[in-house]
Amino acid sequence: MNSPALEARIDLSAVAHNIEVLQAHTTAALMPVLKADAYGHGAVQVAAAVMSAGAAEIGVATIDEALALRRGGIDAPLLAWLHGSSADFGAAIEADVQIGVSSPRELTAVVEAARTAGRTASVTVKVDTGLARNGVAADEWDELRDGVATASAEQSIVLRGVMSHLVRGDEPGHPLNSLQGERLDEAVADLRRLGVGPEIVHIANSAATLTRPDLSRDLARPGIAVYGRSPAPDLGDFGLIPVMTLSAEVLSVKKIPAGQGVSYSHTWTAPSDTTVALLPAGYADGVPRLLSNTLRVHINGRSFPNVGRVCMDQMVVDLGADGGGVEVGDRAVLFGTGEHGGPTALEWAEAIGTIDYEIVSGIRGRAVRTYVGAPAPIPNGRHTPVAAGPG
Ligand SMILES: *Cc1c(COP(=O)(O)O)cnc(C)c1O
Repeated sequence: MNSPALEARIDLSAVAHNIEVLQAHTTAALMPVLKADAYGHGAVQVAAAVMSAGAAEIGVATIDEALALRRGGIDAPLLAWLHGSSADFGAAIEADVQIGVSSPRELTAVVEAARTAGRTASVTVKVDTGLARNGVAADEWDELRDGVATASAEQSIVLRGVMSHLVRGDEPGHPLNSLQGERLDEAVADLRRLGVGPEIVHIANSAATLTRPDLSRDLARPGIAVYGRSPAPDLGDFGLIPVMTLSAEVLSVKKIPAGQGVSYSHTWTAPSDTTVALLPAGYADGVPRLLSNTLRVHINGRSFPNVGRVCMDQMVVDLGADGGGVEVGDRAVLFGTGEHGGPTALEWAEAIGTIDYEIVSGIRGRAVRTYVGAPAPIPNGRHTPVAAGPG
């Protein structure tokens, strides 16, 4: 079968490898973070891969993301921690999704949903220890803590966990990391004094899992490292393997004369007679337009520069006067593992002043995901189809 014209190939054996790398750095159990459709890699397929590689639970942002995993046949423990006013706590409780709670208001809504369902909700309190994003604010702590004690006593909820999120995990030596750990421990101690200790405590993200084992507590929540990207590129790649390879088919090869401008506004003009190739990848697929005239691709192991504007659907690369031996139907790697000097998502990110998280989670549009290195059926025995799907 021919590969899709624009393909995001997801190597699930690399996911399994990355889980092993993470587990080798921590005694904590792993809760891979699969929010945003597994950072653009496909949540159901990645979920099956991480669970068969030994992960304990899965974390996502929203209840909708958790329910999509359930529909995909994933019955691993799931936690969702970001809720709008329309969040369906009842559906989460029915589907056995643990609910992260960041305010007394959310706790009240969860308790009401549990009462309506006639079931006990599994709750993880998310404490703001310094990020000032979601998480229980300091001035709401006492009310939340007392509410957790009351709701636990009446068995509307069971306190499964207490969690927080780091501000500067990618700077392992920064004192804020330890301070956040202490604040988290204080919150746990405060709950224990009321007789409602959590079953588990967690704060580590990818960076802390790899560099601060002392912050691991019971569970670690790595995201980006699962996908093989270093959470702290300055500190190295930790032996992680990038999971996504974005490649495009060469749609045409044509000769252009010296002086010919290429693509909108002719931002690049051929300095001498040359050959250019057309690729079906553009900013609607997640190739940043800001990379115009900056990115490079690998075709048959050789590097060629993009010339002219990256458009919505297309871009052009310069093959040089001799055409570089490139033919219609060859494949251009836009980014991948970086093996043999190939381009990487980190290279794109650094060129435009962002992080590779934004690059990989932004691949979309016409990019079709395909999966290789599929794991054995997930531990509960259900088989999760690992088939090509729309990106
Ligand atoms: C996204 C996220 C993570 C994972 O962070 P990485 O830097 O990708 O490892 C962990 N915990 C929470 C609460 C998150 O929102």
